[in-house]
Amino acid sequence: MATNPLVGVLALQGDVVEHVAALERAGAQAISVKTPEELARVAGLVIPGGESTTVMKLLDRFGLAQPIVERVRGGMPLWGTCMGMIVTARDVADMKQPTLDLIDITVRRNAFGRQNESAEVELLIPALGRKPFPAVFIRAPWIERVGPSVELLASRDGHGVMVRADNVLGTSFHPELTGDPRVHAYFLSMVEAARAQGKASSAA
Ligand code: GLN
Repeated sequence: MATNPLVGVLALQGDVVEHVAALERAGAQAISVKTPEELARVAGLVIPGGESTTVMKLLDRFGLAQPIVERVRGGMPLWGTCMGMIVTARDVADMKQPTLDLIDITVRRNAFGRQNESAEVELLIPALGRKPFPAVFIRAPWIERVGPSVELLASRDGHGVMVRADNVLGTSFHPELTGDPRVHAYFLSMVEAARAQGKASSAA
């Protein structure tokens, strides 16, 4: 039997332990990633929620921005949740915020408004089956523009909140904060598929 894939959770800031636990519940081995050496070991990477301007600065300071971009362009699966999706987007609406530009979407930060800063919503995600997903939104971005190569997987009140383009997945919400393992399992199936095609390992 093949070994379980090793998946990393970027651990510069944000909800790291929850993702590590959820990935392990879904059947992966998971480690936190703070260095290029740790990044080189993993077959997939999660960028968790947190604060996107802070994390972009830390990615540069820890020498991780360029290695992540190279791995993802080489086929390694990447999943950004909330802040993680902002960091991977092509651009941020009405802001000159640097990003890694790994998926052709425009996001709007803190888009769901003050009265709705935090909410749990029963979200329909057809790719995960008919049962609605309990989606937790915390000062969440929405997806304002989706490029031609990007598949929109879910919307809330007419605004995109889950997207995929090849090996990059983005969610506005936080599946690591609920007991429903389906988005983590979906990401693991992307990692397994990349592994089967020989795309998930580091060239280093
Ligand atoms: N509001 C944060 C940002 O714009 C994201 C919030 C989160 O990741 N929960 O960076």
